[in-house]
Amino acid sequence: KLKCRLRQEFVIVGYTRPQGSRTGFGALLLAVNDDNGLVYAGRVGTGFDQHALKAIYAQLTPLARKTSPLQNSLTNSQARGVHWVEPELVGEVNFAEWTREGVVRQASFVAMRSDKPVAQIIHEQPRAAKSLKQASVPKKAGNGVNITHPDRVIDPRSGTQKQQLADFYASISEWLLPFLRHRPVSLLRAPDGIEGEQFFQKHAERLAIPHIKQLDQNLDPGHARLMEIDTTKALLGAVQMGTIELHTWGATADKIETPDRFVLDLDPDPALPWKSMLEAAQLTLSVLDELGLEAFVKTSGGKGLHVVIPLARRDGWETVKAFAKAIAQFMAQQLPERFTATSGPKNRIGKIFIDYLRNARGASTVAAYSVRARPGLPVSVPVSKDELNGLRGAQQWTVANLHERLSTLKDDPWAGYANRQKISKKMWGKLGAQPPQ
Ligand code: ATP
Ligand code: MN
Repeated sequence: KLKCRLRQEFVIVGYTRPQGSRTGFGALLLAVNDDNGLVYAGRVGTGFDQHALKAIYAQLTPLARKTSPLQNSLTNSQARGVHWVEPELVGEVNFAEWTREGVVRQASFVAMRSDKPVAQIIHEQPRAAKSLKQASVPKKAGNGVNITHPDRVIDPRSGTQKQQLADFYASISEWLLPFLRHRPVSLLRAPDGIEGEQFFQKHAERLAIPHIKQLDQNLDPGHARLMEIDTTKALLGAVQMGTIELHTWGATADKIETPDRFVLDLDPDPALPWKSMLEAAQLTLSVLDELGLEAFVKTSGGKGLHVVIPLARRDGWETVKAFAKAIAQFMAQQLPERFTATSGPKNRIGKIFIDYLRNARGASTVAAYSVRARPGLPVSVPVSKDELNGLRGAQQWTVANLHERLSTLKDDPWAGYANRQKISKKMWGKLGAQPPQ
């Protein structure tokens, strides 16, 4: 079961520089008062929108100071790149839990607070509110899997450590495992964190993933065996081996030659405003609707959106891929200003590339509820059609704030997902295309 999030105010004592395209600052350093003065309480690097980043940064700069206002000294990695400020600002943050060292895990910024004096900010004891009592004991990502280098920082922006990633995956496994079970999985591993070398592993070779299931040799002859993750143990085994992302095939191992879905991956020119992305998703859904196909949308956790169309397991890979291609080409033909069906950055200047290529046998797409190996550790998250227009970005949810969404979610955003739809002659006709011979 999901943990409840804790929430309280913290004193802001410093910040780190932004990375990538972000402006303002990267993360805020947090502190609370104990009997002797201010002590370090962790950092928060997510939950800010553009406006907040700018506004808070403008408040921070006049408060710059050379030395730390903390009474305790930080470790080298905690202090790296920190700009100290006078401890005058207070911000409200929500977070998963306090560590034994007294720092917050998976913190996400809520708002600045001008109504609470700095001196009153302490490490609050979580009240035994009803919801907290109901929450189960925080699941240590033990589960019989030993996580080595638990405090290795996987993502410098959020400061997330390997153990925290394991804890996150353990807490999300009920949501994620249904999307992994029965399918070949490929692992994006980054053993030294997202800034280190990355490996995309499709087969069980060289290094063994603890508890992972190996699939039948015949599924991919001439290679080591394909893998499947069907338990929390295997999921954590994968994290132990440096996995951050999980990508699955569009077919299940028992009927590997007949896909049970296809995916239209909407890949924007990075210069396009998010609004164009949302319009593109709506247009894609309406084309699918006219074809008589129900589709389901998730954030990619990267730049775009994934439109998933469940299928009955009937047609083979060639047919399904050709059909996905026909849709992409139809849309590019109808709306050439907005869409292209041709890959390559040159072809999608000012446009959205409808990537249908991941529907070939052996190709994969990141699984719903997989973390992405990108700064801030965003997550690929299913959304309902009603939520689509309110979506703020492909990285709206991260390991730091996904629980907030899930704990308040009323309905399954993908309610009605069923593998009943078949590609018909009529659909091919509407697209002006032919099924392959
Ligand atoms: P975005 O929204 O940023 O486009 P995305 O998930 O749609 O995110 P990518 O992260 O670029 O797109 O992933 C591209 C696809 O290529 C994924 O479906 C993945 O399965 C596959 N892939 C990624 N890395 C490799 C690799 N090294 N070798 C083979 N396939 C890979
Ligand atoms: Mn994409």
